[in-house]
Amino acid sequence: MNKTLLLLITLLALSCQKNKENLNLTQGLYISNVTIVTTEDGNYSPYIGHLVVEKGEIVYIGESEPSISGKFEQIDGTGKFIVPGLIDSHVHLTEVQGMLPHHMEKYPELTKEFNRQMPKSYLYYGFTTLINLGGISKEQIASFNLQPIKPDLYHTGYSGASVANGYPMNFAPEQYRFEAAPNFIFMESEADHIPDKFNPADHTPKAVVDRIKNSGGIAVKSYYESGFRGMSKLPVPTKSIMSELLDESHSNGLVLTVHGNSLEAHSFLADIGVDVIAHGLWNWEKYKDVPTDSLPLEIKETLDLQIQKQIGYTPTLTVIAGEEALADDAFLNIPELKKVVPKNLLEWYKTEEGQWFAKDLFGDFDVEEVHRIYGNIQAHAMLALKYLSDNNGLILFGTDTPSAPTYGNQPGHNGYWEFKLMEEAGVPLNKILSSATINNAKTFHLDSSIGSLKTGKKANMIIMSKNPLKEIEAYDAIEKVVIGGEIIKREDLEFKE
Ligand SMILES: [Zn+2]
Repeated sequence: MNKTLLLLITLLALSCQKNKENLNLTQGLYISNVTIVTTEDGNYSPYIGHLVVEKGEIVYIGESEPSISGKFEQIDGTGKFIVPGLIDSHVHLTEVQGMLPHHMEKYPELTKEFNRQMPKSYLYYGFTTLINLGGISKEQIASFNLQPIKPDLYHTGYSGASVANGYPMNFAPEQYRFEAAPNFIFMESEADHIPDKFNPADHTPKAVVDRIKNSGGIAVKSYYESGFRGMSKLPVPTKSIMSELLDESHSNGLVLTVHGNSLEAHSFLADIGVDVIAHGLWNWEKYKDVPTDSLPLEIKETLDLQIQKQIGYTPTLTVIAGEEALADDAFLNIPELKKVVPKNLLEWYKTEEGQWFAKDLFGDFDVEEVHRIYGNIQAHAMLALKYLSDNNGLILFGTDTPSAPTYGNQPGHNGYWEFKLMEEAGVPLNKILSSATINNAKTFHLDSSIGSLKTGKKANMIIMSKNPLKEIEAYDAIEKVVIGGEIIKREDLEFKE
């Protein structure tokens, strides 16, 4: 080889190295000519561009065509939209929808089928990240993660930080509830109702938060709930307990997210300044019968404080809708459910045994009356959400799937329903998308790896045939889901017998 040619080749190689857009891929994915819909700060400027992934990580995103070589798969994104994978920051993966533990024991096959389909059902609706808010055991985490395709799972430790005998510990019989809630908080006023074998020193906010951190949790889930549906008055955390939980969470780099849906809870939690309230404000207590078209001053002031402190607000409108669904025979015949719920389980829901919770909740109530009551609560929930949205509150997407043993909250399907209800409440589409991507990622400290489409982030993303900034139906017009660089066609996620 003559010297001039050698020099030329060397120069060319050097200039290629300098040119960042020349990518040599070994396990690549190239999505070309796609409309990129992503944000870092809530403002969207979609553009047609190109996206390159190598070994599960985004290595290029931009308007100009990259020069790539090596081994890669290509997707022509012409006419399509790409958005970051969706994050649901309030789910429970520990139960089978519509069943109590004794049902799951009686029907191990239904349970197995459900757990095999559940991760795919979340992906089917674009959810690539889930945060389990509440207890989950080591075994449950391991068995979820053993599934061949699944969303990324984050959690809040082996149990929530509930005060002794408070919500949701109250659901378990007294002899089991303390073992079932290893992270309960000792409270002086409950001392007589805590078995002696539990040492108060192991149940201070500090001890509990340390344990949650050590078990791999990213957040601490606590509760402010004095009871509903005829429960006797439950103990709730004191100001000093909640403030200590907040301080301890922060010194461990964790996020404090708290259950609360009443005016009393929201005002208590806004005052403390917790990071996230895990539900919207729909239990208006003394204002429950006011007209559904204007906010009472006290509600408005509580929301104003949350907006001012930028406390994360998780609407979870499907908590209400998913219970109300039990009053409608039509719900179980929604065709979409067949794609995300195993057939045998759908059939079981229709049996007398499967209708147990519907009967428990509504008994002989007239269907019209159920809709009137739930409609009123939902109207209040939507009004509070709209106010928060109009005034730049921090909205976090979360469904609380399932919020109760209701078959009305099905994995994935419930998320799409939540999107539609948020739109119905008057939240603009750009805010809806941010709530399920960048807002959740930033609030839960996951934004270094997910929440937006950016070089260096994990390739969790969805390709849609409709524009999610133009129509809510885009969330049901998903063509492909990419998780950690792996491409999955939506139809491959459907339930198949
Ligand atoms: Zn929940």
